[in-house]
Amino acid sequence: MYISEFNYHNPDTLKEAIHLFNTHDDAAILAGGTDLLVEIKKGLRHHKNIISITSIDELKFIKEENHHIIIGAGVIHNDIIDSPLILSNLPALADALSKVGSDQVRNAGTIGGNLCTGAACCDSAPLLIALDASIEIVGASGIRVLSLKDFFVFNKIVKLSKGEILSKVIIPIPEAGTGLHYEKFGLREAAAVSVVSVAVMVLIKNNQCVKASVVIGAVAPTPLISGKATCIIIGKTVQELTLPSEILDQAGDAAADDSIPIDDIRGGAKYRKQILSVLTKRAIEKAVLSVK
Ligand SMILES: Cc1cc2nc3c(=O)[nH]c(=O)nc-3n(C[C@H](O)[C@H](O)[C@H](O)COP(=O)(O)OP(=O)(O)OC[C@H]3O[C@@H](n4cnc5c(N)ncnc54)[C@H](O)[C@@H]3O)c2cc1C
Repeated sequence: MYISEFNYHNPDTLKEAIHLFNTHDDAAILAGGTDLLVEIKKGLRHHKNIISITSIDELKFIKEENHHIIIGAGVIHNDIIDSPLILSNLPALADALSKVGSDQVRNAGTIGGNLCTGAACCDSAPLLIALDASIEIVGASGIRVLSLKDFFVFNKIVKLSKGEILSKVIIPIPEAGTGLHYEKFGLREAAAVSVVSVAVMVLIKNNQCVKASVVIGAVAPTPLISGKATCIIIGKTVQELTLPSEILDQAGDAAADDSIPIDDIRGGAKYRKQILSVLTKRAIEKAVLSVK
């Protein structure tokens, strides 16, 4: 299929992009295009105006500021994966992003684009939500910051108003004793979207889990914090969170209980719940064992 005709805009500042986005009808932002151009090609989306943000250098940075790592929305997955700042502070994020598609997709696709697709199966969101990340959104009326967990409304629907651009992802640097892990299950080893995914954050102090977050992906209309699984692991010892463990069995079942999966071409709802239960146990144990 051919791409339908559109006007192509290529601003080199965020201010100009916001202006174009707010003064042109039927416009869409183009980052890596790995999602948008596929949808346009399939005839699922049509836009009169495409505003590329690929020439905007102010969206392409990774920096440390006030105990946070801040990533510009226009940074491609492979640059995050290879960043020394990410590898020393958030290696689990590099690991999660290495599971996105293929090398070609990771060389074009951006973190901002991944979040803005709003796909329940997107690979960056679960770990970022477990890390309590926020996002900065810029529009004609100014800048706002939103907790990432509140960004997702439904599958492919996010809280971006007309004319708004996601500009940064803001991630608190985990405190000492934090363990993180992301597990993804797809139908192939590479270039497969998640059928089920789980991200886990645990904070271990004096051999005990004092804080946690279990976030499940691709098993509900949005990435979701499993409140039940999270409650079960808080207060437990490292031994209780190491397989084989009744507590981990309970946490796995609790995550499955919190999920609302669909039946689709990649897997049935019952199958997804079973995989989620196994993946949750594994992700919790690996997060606990990753604590240095
Ligand atoms: C073969 C293949 C395999 C894939 N595998 C995976 C996978 O395993 N895991 C996964 O998570 N994804 C996967 N994807 C989906 C996609 O590649 C990723 O989600 C990618 O990160 C999208 O980023 P992008 O920069 O290409 O976004 P684009 O395609 O440029 O944009 C995606 C959407 O977000 C909007 N947008 C982009 N940036 C912004 C911004 N800064 N502010 C506001 N709106 C914005 C666009 O208007 C569009 O609606 C795959 C895609 C392909 C083609």
